[in-house]
Amino acid sequence: MNASVSTAELLSRLVGFDTTSRNSNLALIGFVRDWFDQHGVPYRISTDASGQKANLHAIIGPQSAGGIALSGHVDTVPVDGQSWSSDPFTLRAGEGGRLYARGAADMKGFVASCLAAVPDLLALGPKRPLHLFISYDEEIGCQGARRLIEDLDASGLRPALCVVGEPSGMKPIVAHKGKVNVNVSVRGKPGHSSEPARGVNAVQAAAEAIAWVAAEARRLAKEGPFDTGFDPPHTTIHVGTMAGGTILNIIPERAEFVMEWRNIPADDPLAALARMQQYIAAHIEPAMKAVDPACGFSYDIDLRMPGMALPVDHELSTLVRGLTGSNSTGKVSYGTEGGFYQEAGIPTIICGPGHIAQAHQPDEWIAQSELDACDAFIRRLARQLLI
Ligand SMILES: [Zn+2]
Repeated sequence: MNASVSTAELLSRLVGFDTTSRNSNLALIGFVRDWFDQHGVPYRISTDASGQKANLHAIIGPQSAGGIALSGHVDTVPVDGQSWSSDPFTLRAGEGGRLYARGAADMKGFVASCLAAVPDLLALGPKRPLHLFISYDEEIGCQGARRLIEDLDASGLRPALCVVGEPSGMKPIVAHKGKVNVNVSVRGKPGHSSEPARGVNAVQAAAEAIAWVAAEARRLAKEGPFDTGFDPPHTTIHVGTMAGGTILNIIPERAEFVMEWRNIPADDPLAALARMQQYIAAHIEPAMKAVDPACGFSYDIDLRMPGMALPVDHELSTLVRGLTGSNSTGKVSYGTEGGFYQEAGIPTIICGPGHIAQAHQPDEWIAQSELDACDAFIRRLARQLLI
């Protein structure tokens, strides 16, 4: 490697590592470590409990808190069951400057652009730190970003601002919804169906709770609160799967359903879950527990993604609008690591190359022109903010 490696060349190296979220990312991180070592850039590594997944936090310029972070994840969604025209882990150049590979848009293109900028950024001699965050397991609940934030707390090397380079067509995105997934289990009491009063029907209890969910979904759509710019402009709630019972003539002992809230940033889905639990405790469980106190509901939150909302007049929004030449900002429905950074007190915006419509698809691609725009953005950002 030398100082003038292009973004596309680096992208071709990065997509060559199969970093589907279920795999270790250590080989890719090893490649990135070598890159920073060659350029004399210090970095920290933080890993998951298994040691098989690693984040990297590099700082160009003063090794201190403050400045700005550029953040990208290097895990990807699987290619299983998808029909690709060529090997998903070999970058293929096609017509119109399209570069095809798994992760090209989401989001190794942004990471390649950050790495390619390192020599130019060093040459600028930044007086404030430019942090580069490279994280694991974004696609499966942002585990890496959470670990990286723990490491920021340990090191004290917190940036003042953050840009998450998720594909946005290089347009600033200031807000996204949050998400909470909840597994609900219902325990009843089995018995012969000819004597329903001797048992507790878990399927029917679950159905009563699901009826509350349906009513709550209608209430949210009608009464809000509303946040214009989102589609739909309110929190949504739904039950995605349910199961229960064994055979018609046995009172079902078990039922489960899985539900989600997708909340506008101003809404608190955990408070909404608490309201649902209060309703169930007051209106559904008493009759169950009267038959057998062991009967009732239990709840397991298996994913929580905070929403993100940066005030439109925040300095970071003004800065990124100026650098990208966009006079507007957007809101999106997909979640990102940005919600976790914002929750950790780091004002965050989303702006990255490529388009979300190409992410997660077979024949995922990014346009060379998007990479060029990102390359220019990073250099302008550094010149404006760091010297
Ligand atoms: Zn992504």
